[in-house]
Amino acid sequence: MIVASQNQHKLKEIEHILGVKVHGANIKVKEDGKTFEENAIKKAKAGLRKFKELTLADDSGLEVKCLGGKPGVKSARYATPPTPENLCNKLLRAMKDGKDRRAQFVCVIALAYPNGKVKTFKGVVKGRIIEEMRGSHGFGYDPVFVPDGYQKTFAEMKPATKNHLSHRGQALKKISRL
Ligand code: IMP
Repeated sequence: MIVASQNQHKLKEIEHILGVKVHGANIKVKEDGKTFEENAIKKAKAGLRKFKELTLADDSGLEVKCLGGKPGVKSARYATPPTPENLCNKLLRAMKDGKDRRAQFVCVIALAYPNGKVKTFKGVVKGRIIEEMRGSHGFGYDPVFVPDGYQKTFAEMKPATKNHLSHRGQALKKISRL
């Protein structure tokens, strides 16, 4: 399966959860959609056009209550360069005066089939943003996100535990049941 992403962390998670070998492809599209759905569909269709094979694309991000849902679809571009340190520190600064630290990771996966059909699958994991970075696994905002019912951040958890709980894990589980 072609996966329209070159994010090695995402590719590893997708392989681990689906249990299949995937090929990451460099698909350049302008991620200018207003929703995760729009961007995921755009990437998957672009991959299908290029490779003429079943293509999976993921668009994901973090929505924080006290920031009115930001950074949302702009999560990847929230800080430059988008290292975990830069992303998390900018987020923590923006939340300095915010009281409601509830947040959710959202992932929409689009599958574009060679017959032209496109299906989408959504996964959400709710949690909260803690006040400092903890842990070294994962990527992006993992060091500041603690899922509901847990004490550890995603970056402190074993990858298998994160994959079991995560937004991407939830969306991919729907695909593996197809
Ligand atoms: P995109 O889907 O390539 O637009 O990127 C989504 C961005 O959201 C990533 O670059 C990360 O910054 C953030 N993000 C998405 N999923 C995760 C996750 O599982 N952990 C941490 N950050 C994530």
